[in-house]
Amino acid sequence: MPNNNLKYKLICFDLDGTIIDETIFIWQTLHDAFGSDKKKRKQYAEYFVNKKITYRQWAEHDLELWREAGATKTSMMNATDKLRLMPGALETLNKLKELKEKAKADGNCLKLAIISGSLNIALERVLPNYKDYFDDVYINHLIFDGKDGEKLAGIRSTAFDFENKADALREIANRENIPLSECVFIGDHDNDIHVAEIAGLSIAFNCKSERLAQIADIVIEKKDLREILKYII
Ligand SMILES: [Mg+2]
Repeated sequence: MPNNNLKYKLICFDLDGTIIDETIFIWQTLHDAFGSDKKKRKQYAEYFVNKKITYRQWAEHDLELWREAGATKTSMMNATDKLRLMPGALETLNKLKELKEKAKADGNCLKLAIISGSLNIALERVLPNYKDYFDDVYINHLIFDGKDGEKLAGIRSTAFDFENKADALREIANRENIPLSECVFIGDHDNDIHVAEIAGLSIAFNCKSERLAQIADIVIEKKDLREILKYII
């Protein structure tokens, strides 16, 4: 007999500020580390907000600022040194992985996903074996090449940041045949608002956005990711 006691079948996480600690946005953390041109950064962020440029163009522009500041693969990796897993993140992910395996053995499904505008180098820094946990990872990927593999060559940018995070959740839920009412989203900031609005259960964790805190079903104040478990199991 399948065990149908799982209330939620898709658990989606934001990364920066949610699973990854010691950054609010990795893009900002890298700009600070490289001292990239503040005026240009601000200008391009405004262009994006005002829809004058696409997300991809904004990302490409930020890469150009890092190149101007002399960024290489090594220096970019070094700039992620201070990033840490959120307190309680590993215990939480191990628990969810255990539940996922149990669900599978019972003929049920539980899927884990990341929907984030963060960068692969940040995720790989804090959780190199992230593929052991997550079925889907929607994130930006930096591309390095050149003779020594050090040159910042480009980016495979995500189509699913800001309001489009909601599209990623819909896409996974449709593919896996999971109603949105059985989907959870956990995030911390303004770019999580749209996806939080459509998830069956939205959790604002380590929250820096007044609006997200207002619309989320649950707001967790304690900075320990294990706090989410009692709401989703
Ligand atoms: Mg975040």
